Amino acid sequence: MGTRHKRLTALVVGVTAAVVLVFASNASAYVLEGPYWHGNPPPGTCCGNFTVQKPGGWYGSDEAMFNQAMSVWNNSAALVLFNVTPSSPLKIDDTNDSSAGWDGITYMNYVGNQFTSVTSVLNFSYTYAYSVAKGGSVGAHELGHAIGLGHVPASQCALMNPYTSTRWDTCGIAGPVTDDINGANHLY
Ligand SMILES: [Zn+2]
Repeated sequence: MGTRHKRLTALVVGVTAAVVLVFASNASAYVLEGPYWHGNPPPGTCCGNFTVQKPGGWYGSDEAMFNQAMSVWNNSAALVLFNVTPSSPLKIDDTNDSSAGWDGITYMNYVGNQFTSVTSVLNFSYTYAYSVAKGGSVGAHELGHAIGLGHVPASQCALMNPYTSTRWDTCGIAGPVTDDINGANHLY
């Protein structure tokens, strides 16, 4: 009798936990970094317009990966547009650093919560082995940082998942999904 009662209690706890999880995943799960690009778009107009400066040269397919990254954002429901221009405080670049533990990184400078300059970087030491689509997923993730999005929990299938092994290999995320789009549209 006592054992049966314990099992019932455990079942109720389990159901409660499941309900909490459902609510958690339905909430706006995007995470904001804090700093973002103020005044973009100008009041009353649509869409953050982000000019992007490219470097003089690239390793392998890194440029194609960043082109793919801009494309998946531009073709999503996020109210943001990336365009390449000769000079911009938002830069993309790549490196070939075998000592680094990352395939992409974004360096951010800001005053208060206003970005002053941001550089998103791919690491050819990893991306040389990636398809353009997989590298594009990394680039799109870094561009998410570059406009002000932070990491969602490592268990969540979203562009802003911190790990390529989860984001791409497990979840198959190539570009912004609902949570990422909601985050971008909250800011711009
Ligand atoms: Zn990240």
